[in-house]
Amino acid sequence: MARYQPHKNLLVGRTILVTGASDGIGRVAAITYAQHGADVLLLGRDRKKLEAVNDEITSATATSPLIIPFDLAKLHAQSETVLTDSLRDAIQQLDGILHNASLLGSKVPVAHYPSNEWESVMHVNVTAAFLLTKALLPALEKSSDASVIFTSSGVGRKGRAFWGAYAVSKFATEGMMEVLADELSDTNIRVNSLNPGGTRTTMRASAYPAEDPMTLPTPQEHMPLYLYLIGPDSRGVNGKKFDASSWDGS
Ligand code: NDP
Repeated sequence: MARYQPHKNLLVGRTILVTGASDGIGRVAAITYAQHGADVLLLGRDRKKLEAVNDEITSATATSPLIIPFDLAKLHAQSETVLTDSLRDAIQQLDGILHNASLLGSKVPVAHYPSNEWESVMHVNVTAAFLLTKALLPALEKSSDASVIFTSSGVGRKGRAFWGAYAVSKFATEGMMEVLADELSDTNIRVNSLNPGGTRTTMRASAYPAEDPMTLPTPQEHMPLYLYLIGPDSRGVNGKKFDASSWDGS
């Protein structure tokens, strides 16, 4: 159990973008950030699911969430401006991004990995996160204290058979985090990666269909680390790789 005790108003006055906010860890993180005062931008590909998250937030908090129905598979250099212009119109500044949306893809040997699926997984998990970050850097620069979190995985730190494009994309995610953290080390923007570890979600159930989900931690149990990294208490922490399962909150 993490010792970190976030202040209930930790994120008041902050605007935070959460990708993959419609389900799983991203949904819980978005709601938790709003409960701590943040205005959250909820990005996901399913409008109905996003509206349900939006309703949950507005009925329980005084914050102003905004839904952004958008399929990251369709985010390309050409469409980047459409998304980011509308985001920039909606917000003055951006104080945080939780890059959380990911595709799992097939769990098969590289020899049999479908090439088109490889490209989709790499695009959603890596290229879309790059395009979003690049386009939103000017908005992050306006914040006095901005945090970017990239979501990693155990297989993004040690490769494992049959994890294919997902594992490779998470290695790339770690690389992107390190490059960006180094480039921004003298700025107000910090960049870190977070591996939630096995967590009770739809993605985990797809990856391990025989596993009993009740043996896994819920997304809620990881929220102290998600709050610590996105909020002011992690000011000065940059270029670090975090593991929710071993983080002791100190
Ligand atoms: P889920 O599959 O439960 O949720 C993923 C979220 O990403 C959903 O909101 C999903 O939308 C969204 N998403 C997927 N593809 C796109 C897309 N093309 N455009 C926009 N949104 C998209 O995953 P988890 O909550 O389990 O995982 C969250 C993060 O944590 C991921 O980065 C994952 O790799 C990482 N992780 C998870 C682990 C676990 O055990 N759960 C372990 C290690 C890492 P929709 O609702 O439409 O499906």
